[in-house]
Amino acid sequence: MKTSRRNKRARIRKARIRFGIIVLVTIFLMIFLIGKIHSIHEEGVLQEAIKQEAIQQEAIKQEAIQQEAIKQEAVKQEAIKQDAIKQKAKQQKKSDGKPKGKVVYLTFDDGPSKLTDQFLDVLKEQNVKATFFMQGSNLKKTNLQESVKRVIREGHYIGGHSMSHDYQKLYTNKQFVPEMNETLALIHDITGTNPRLVRAPYGSAPGLRSERIRNQIVESGIKLWDWTIDSNDWRLKGHRNQILENIKRETKADVEVVLMHEKSQTLQELTEIITFYRDKGYAFGVYNDDNHFVLNFQNDERL
Ligand SMILES: [Zn+2]
Repeated sequence: MKTSRRNKRARIRKARIRFGIIVLVTIFLMIFLIGKIHSIHEEGVLQEAIKQEAIQQEAIKQEAIQQEAIKQEAVKQEAIKQDAIKQKAKQQKKSDGKPKGKVVYLTFDDGPSKLTDQFLDVLKEQNVKATFFMQGSNLKKTNLQESVKRVIREGHYIGGHSMSHDYQKLYTNKQFVPEMNETLALIHDITGTNPRLVRAPYGSAPGLRSERIRNQIVESGIKLWDWTIDSNDWRLKGHRNQILENIKRETKADVEVVLMHEKSQTLQELTEIITFYRDKGYAFGVYNDDNHFVLNFQNDERL
């Protein structure tokens, strides 16, 4: 009896121990399984994030490639456009640099003057651009500087015509280049343009016969224009019809450069002069530093 009770107690203890072990193993198993499930889930989330990141990076890369392609295409198109412009400019010019077709350049020397605005009014009314050669001593007059600015604003060109207009100083004393540089700097100060073209007072012949001054002109990067037609307007006060007669008589070539001055008789005749050239089929050119052509009485190709 005693033994059987002892056995029973021992069995119960064993059963408890077994139960305890089973509970413990189950708990461990559950913890292990939960951890595993959790880690699988986390792993999945991480993998998904990496995948998303890769997709995003790829999209950014594709976008950059696309942008680069667009940029390259734009560069290419711009090059083609520039080429076409150059080609066109070349086609519009002859081998001597002169424009093709009939073109007349109206030029006015010795300004600015109190008549500059009235010249501009006529040119505007006629829709004609012209080339002015201005003198430093006049450019310095502050009351004329508004007109000088207007010349540029309305699409005309201003070149230099020396400070003094004095033959002795310019040619005998060889002050041509220093005076032209000073004049061009004055034009720049007033208008902001950077002209390189000058007209020699009294023309380049005979003043620039000596090569010494011409070498200085070349070294200074200055260009020089004489003319193909002398209207002699300055000496025709009271005989303004004669100005047009002179011009008509001398107009022969496809490209003409007409010398005139800011004189009242010239102003009065200007509309007639423009009409004459228009009727003859000439276009009106304005000087442009980028499209220079040689025109000087010394036949110096460097000028
Ligand atoms: Zn002059």
